[in-house]
Amino acid sequence: MAQLSGDCFAFGGSVLSIDDAVKLLGERLDIVEGGETIALASADGRILARPITAPLALPPFTNSAVDGYALRGEDLPVDREASFAVTDWVQAGAAAAAPAAAGKAIRIFTGAPMPEGADTVFMQEDARAEGGKVTLPSGLRRGANVRPVGEDVAAGQVVLDAGHRLRPQDVAMLAALGLTEVRVRRRLRVAVFSTGNEIVSPGESRAPMQLFDANRFMLIAMLGRLGCDVGDLGILRDDPDATAAVLEHASAHHDLILTSGGVSTGEADYVKQAVEKVGTLVFWRMAIKPGRPVAMGVIGGTPFIGLPGNPVASFITFAYVARPAILALSGSPLPRLPALPVRAAFSYKKKPGRREYVRVSLRKAEDGTLEATKFPREGAGMLSSLVETDGLVELHEQVTGVAPGQNVPFLSYTSLF
Ligand code: AMP
Ligand code: MG
Repeated sequence: MAQLSGDCFAFGGSVLSIDDAVKLLGERLDIVEGGETIALASADGRILARPITAPLALPPFTNSAVDGYALRGEDLPVDREASFAVTDWVQAGAAAAAPAAAGKAIRIFTGAPMPEGADTVFMQEDARAEGGKVTLPSGLRRGANVRPVGEDVAAGQVVLDAGHRLRPQDVAMLAALGLTEVRVRRRLRVAVFSTGNEIVSPGESRAPMQLFDANRFMLIAMLGRLGCDVGDLGILRDDPDATAAVLEHASAHHDLILTSGGVSTGEADYVKQAVEKVGTLVFWRMAIKPGRPVAMGVIGGTPFIGLPGNPVASFITFAYVARPAILALSGSPLPRLPALPVRAAFSYKKKPGRREYVRVSLRKAEDGTLEATKFPREGAGMLSSLVETDGLVELHEQVTGVAPGQNVPFLSYTSLF
């Protein structure tokens, strides 16, 4: 379990900016201990426990980048084309029978090792082969179409850092280096609860004034993408004592507790009270829209994050508060979220002093530029606003509005988890 004491979150009742919150999470949450050694085939998405040092160079031997004819550099035709006798034939996976001889060409194929002495390959498209001879053009640079040993990776080089989340291309690198297993951090165990007397699970009977639980399934899906082991702990009724008991129990078996709903300032928002009963709570009113309130605390040494109940607010605060916490606990650096500039096709008024996220769709304008259109309705409970859009325009604290034609930073949903 991550060990954490309550006083490290002693931020009183102040409203935190996202940047301060994320900085604090990074500084104060300790990496969860424990790892496992797993087969390469199941390594995608896992976090490296140790850096990977290349045990061999890539490519491991100098080879031809094309199908063609290999020559010694000193024999390259300079002013006009020249003909050469073809003396050998090297396929990928085979070795040349003999070193390249002066004034001779060797037929060679992509990936085949360069014969000793040869350093340049002519593409077969540029060659005319006839009866054991080949005519090659002048002007080719010495060393052309050859992949030198180690040009991709040098032996002994660190190719991946500890804390890196493996992607398919990283797994390919490990395989190319001949590794069969990899040491990764163990998956974080995250407990997820929904809260509210009005919430029922899909499949249960729903009274007319009740809602099916959207958040728990959304959070479980997002946690799954972050490689967490999720404990689905169902729905907590609006009852502070029962909530306190369940949270305390969950804290003993998880690295993080995540809830949604019940953290506003209404009388029926009991999660705050419950956390205070069994742990320490610092009510993080964050300067984020949609989002606040987001609660953070510690129960028995286990961090607790209470996301807002409205699904859109829950989604956005997951991405900007829960995810950084999960990355900190996994010892993984925060990815540089690539906010790409797109042209706004909407106007928007904003209060300074808080960060706002606008749900937008992208389209190609007539001049070919990517343009963001704003979802027409703004409610923080409106799931269609997430389903029907492509991502978020991030408006920083000092921004006071957006005018059509202005460049705005866009984050695709796929970059958020
Ligand atoms: P709360 O933060 O508990 O006051 O909830 C804010 C709004 O979000 C209310 O309209 C709730 O009904 C709604 N809500 C809370 N939890 C969920 C959930 N798990 N799924 C869908 N809507 C929810
Ligand atoms: Mg509620």
